[in-house]
Order: sequence, then structure tokens, then C-alpha cells
Amino acid sequence: MQSNIKLGRIHGIEIGLHYSWFIIAALIVFSLGEHFHQVNPNWGTSQIWITALFTAVLFFVSLLLHELAHSLVAQARGLKVKAITLFALGGVSQIESDATDAKTEFWVAIAGPIASLLIGFGCLANASGLGWRRPAEPQTGITSVLVWLGYINVGLAVFNMIPGFPLDGGRVLRAIVWAITKNAERSTRIAARVGQVVAFLFIVDGIWQFFSGAGFGGLWIAFIGWFLMDAAKASYGQAEITAVFQGMRVSSVMSRNCVTVNRGMSLQEFVNSYLLTTGQRCYAVEDQGRLVGLITPRDVGAIPRELWDTTTVREAMRPLEDLHIITPDTQVTDALKLMAGNDVNQLPVVTNGTLQGVVSRSQLMQLLQAQSELHLPAAHYPPITTHG
Ligand SMILES: [Zn+2]
Repeated sequence: MQSNIKLGRIHGIEIGLHYSWFIIAALIVFSLGEHFHQVNPNWGTSQIWITALFTAVLFFVSLLLHELAHSLVAQARGLKVKAITLFALGGVSQIESDATDAKTEFWVAIAGPIASLLIGFGCLANASGLGWRRPAEPQTGITSVLVWLGYINVGLAVFNMIPGFPLDGGRVLRAIVWAITKNAERSTRIAARVGQVVAFLFIVDGIWQFFSGAGFGGLWIAFIGWFLMDAAKASYGQAEITAVFQGMRVSSVMSRNCVTVNRGMSLQEFVNSYLLTTGQRCYAVEDQGRLVGLITPRDVGAIPRELWDTTTVREAMRPLEDLHIITPDTQVTDALKLMAGNDVNQLPVVTNGTLQGVVSRSQLMQLLQAQSELHLPAAHYPPITTHG
């Protein structure tokens, strides 16, 4: 989830909005306007819309405080937090590193719901201080805003504590299972499985409500369920990958028979005598024995065909400065993160300016597939060295 609009920084954390947030903001303002119109028929049009807009802004602030609670606790416990993004279904804190112990996971996860609960009860207490009594509808503008924010924040805390990954409650569940089993991967898998069950129930309930006449509300619940299902599946897959590659170094999986080509060669020559004959996906470009870049079929494809005769490999390659270089000692899981984060399919493995080999995403995926087909428990999986 990348933010489209950057709002600024708090404590070094970038705060941003995804475009989808505006859809939900508009929905909130309109449904609030409708709500205030029904509950306070004596209000004028401008009072209704100003109050609705003001409430939506405060709702935004309370969502942000929920995410900030996660992020600040994460920072206090030594994790790096990159950004907070608000989108249609709430907020996401991009915490760069994973918690390394169950206690950290627990406190980071529960900080958000605690913040929402405090805000919620704080708003309701203030409203009753101003004369509002449950279950009567609030009469003044200020109490209307406070009561709505109070209920929505308590609701937010309760919803987020549903024990399905990736909701906060799922992370709390994961932390508890982790503390009991002392096994981080297994706890992720259990929490992700529970998350899939919860998501499935959301979808069934949403569809049921839709056909019972709840209309948009039902579809919305089903949509949230679908989103949660997707996220739980991704977390499960991530846990599998981590389990397989745990502790494995790049040196044991990289392919070493890298073909090197001369930088001065024309692309046409390179295509004829290398690309079409060797079937390799990645070639090292060298200058007097030193690696200067990499060239892949993708880079060749980016150059129009009529220019292949007059373009050299050096002009078409990705130079070393632009590549994300790893060493044979890099963890495979870190290499995968680097590839995913930079949208590249291979990484050169280099020591002292000399190319040792290449790690590619497709090769790692083949390893994963082999592992799942053999049904080997991850711990007994021998490090595999591929030579092409
Ligand atoms: Zn949260």
C-alpha cells in the first residue's frame, strides 16, 4: 500500500493518504449528513454539513492516532517504521523489520486497539459531561460529534481485536501462540489460518445480509472479508517462504555458471550468439575482468529492434551502480525482500568487485515448489546448491 498524497512526517514517520481514502471520506461525510439530518431535524443545512465534515476530519485523526500508537510502540521497541498510509479500509503502518520476540509483537499489535478504546471512551465521557445521556440521541452539535466518534472508535477497537491475521487481534493471537510454542513461523501460520476462517465468515455474512436486504452494507462486509482473505493468504505464504529459507545463505542457492559478455559487443551479436543459444536469463558484463553491469532479455527488449546493430551491450545494460548487490553471506530471505522491494527478478552476488553468481526469483520459487512437492519438513531441508 503506497501513499499517493504525502501529508508530512511525525517522529520521522511519513504520513500519507491513498486515493481510496477519499471514497470512504466522501461516504462518511454523506452518511453523517444524512444521520444528522434525521436526528436533528431543526438543524440548518450548513450546520449539518459543517458538523459532518468536522466529524470526518476528527475520524481521520483518530485513525491516525490508532496507527501512530502501533508505530510509536514499534519504534520504542527498536523497530524501524517507514510510513503510515490511510486507505479505504483504515490505516497501515509500514514497519520495516519484523518483531524478533513475542512480547514486542504483542505490545505493537495491542497498542492500536488500546488507543482507539481510550479515544472512544474519552469522547463518550466528554459527551456525558456535556449533558448527553444514553440511549437518547445527542442534541447539540458538539455532543453529536463526540457520541459518533465515541462509538466508532470503540467499534474500531472491537473490530480490530477479531483474532484473525492480519487484523490486530490476529497479531495478538500470533504473539500469544509464539510465546507458548516458541516458534515464530508456526504461530504466523496458525494466526493466518484463523484469519482465513474469519475472512470466510465475513464474506458469507456479507452475502447473507446483502440478500436479506441490507444492500450496500452487506456488500461492504463481504468486501472487507475478501480483503482480509487475501491478506491472510499472503501472510501464510510469507510464513512458508520464511520457514523454508530460514538461515539459508545466498551462497548455497545462487547459480554460479554466469555467462560473461564483452561490453563492446553489439546487441544484435549478443542476441545471436548468446541470448538465442545459451538460454540463460542473465549475463554479466565485464570490463577487463571486473563486473560493470548486468544485461537480461528484459533490457534488450527495451531497445527498439532497428537499433540493435548500433547499440552496444554497455549502452543497454544496467550498470553496477544501479544494481542492488548482495554478497554470498546475505540471507536468502533478505535477498527475496530486496527483489520484491525493488521489482527486480535477479540480484548479482559480488565480492570485491568480482561476480560470484546470480540469485533469481524464479530459481528460488522452484526450490520452494520442490520443497512443497517432497513434503519435507523445513528443518530437514538440506541446503541445495544449484549449478545451472
Ligand atoms: Zn491496528
